[in-house]
Amino acid sequence: LDRFKHVNDSLGHHIGDLLLEQVGQRLSTCLRGVDTIARLGGDEFTVTLTELQKKQDAAIVADKIISELARPFEIHGQIIRIGCSIGITSFPDDTTELSSMLKNADMAMYEVKDKGKNAYEFFSPDMTKHANHRMELEKDLYSALKNNELYLHYQPITNLQTGKICTVEALLRWKHSKHGQVPPDKIISIAEESDLILKVGEWILKQAFQQLTRWRSQGYTNLHLAINMSTRQFDRKYDNVRLIKSLIFQHQIPENYIHLEITESLMLEDSRLILDTLSELKELGVLLSVDDFGTGYSSLSYLRKLPIDILKIDQSFIRNLSLRSGDDALIKAIIAMGQSLNLTVIAEGVETKEQLTFLQQHECNQVQGYYFSKPVSADEISTLLK
Ligand code: C2E
Ligand code: MG
Ligand code: MG
Repeated sequence: LDRFKHVNDSLGHHIGDLLLEQVGQRLSTCLRGVDTIARLGGDEFTVTLTELQKKQDAAIVADKIISELARPFEIHGQIIRIGCSIGITSFPDDTTELSSMLKNADMAMYEVKDKGKNAYEFFSPDMTKHANHRMELEKDLYSALKNNELYLHYQPITNLQTGKICTVEALLRWKHSKHGQVPPDKIISIAEESDLILKVGEWILKQAFQQLTRWRSQGYTNLHLAINMSTRQFDRKYDNVRLIKSLIFQHQIPENYIHLEITESLMLEDSRLILDTLSELKELGVLLSVDDFGTGYSSLSYLRKLPIDILKIDQSFIRNLSLRSGDDALIKAIIAMGQSLNLTVIAEGVETKEQLTFLQQHECNQVQGYYFSKPVSADEISTLLK
């Protein structure tokens, strides 16, 4: 099931249990008498279809299940929407071993989840390669962390009123000895699947704070620091609030010089826990920034509900400026909305003079992008600051 954890976290386990019961009932209506259905654990159901004429017929059942579970559920007057991701494997084409069947179906299901959920996928041998590669990377990430193979680059953010660098954003880098540079979103997603995200996230925070302190000792005492936060770092068990608090204290940095970048999907998880954590951070005095604004979900109500300070307009809008006139209008609207809500608006991915001029004309507060500088090493930032 997609988003089941969210239901459990926000509405409680009791509602979660009732939801599972209803899901079970709906699933049975999609099957024939010869089929078997089981819940093997958590939010995962397993279905075996026997006596199929051809393996493609499983897709018909999968389609039926997807549309059946897409209909909203009603529990104690609450309307709940979930969805499901389905992985399919067949005997004896894919494998003749029971244990590999479950593994195959699992891999196919994760492929669906990776691609955006709410669909089905048949197992293919490529997926084993893909999964093995990820497993290898996960193993290597452990040692990379230990052996200092990870490092941070920084990209300047420029204030359009003063023309000066006001903030730098820390961006994760990993040069893998065999595979070369691994893109940061991939590192993060691998780390998120295991508990490694805790260690990686801590490492990033500590490293970035240390670097900010170095710049401050070089005299750049007005520089702010933006750090990307993974959704998983907001899990209560990780207690990143305490870590951030102690880093601020240890390095004697004004709280509002630290910007934590979070994504729209986190905003949508309007569970109590996340709200509490965000409020705690807000109380601490750090600034909260919504990264890639405009690409996630279109719920704007969170802007009112959550303690946000900064909006970063996603680079896809900037890229299409003057190509698609609709994007011009959207950027103008986002800037105006930001202003009226007293938020700082930053445009990401500014690459050309034309884009910059447009943003200046419409009084965007700050800009970030290759036009000014790519992400560079800490030393190169010192040079830029000078
Ligand atoms: P992001 O936070 O939105 O970072 C901006 C990305 O846009 C960076 O890619 C940056 O190199 C790229 N970029 C900046 N200016 C331009 C431009 O003018 N044109 C183009 N085409 N691209 C530009 P990068 O470093 O590959 O990072 C990708 C994403 O990975 C980040 O997006 C962020 O979501 C994630 N990420 C990076 N470092 C970290 C980290 O330390 N922690 C977490 N949780 N996520 C990270
Ligand atoms: Mg960012
Ligand atoms: Mg971004």
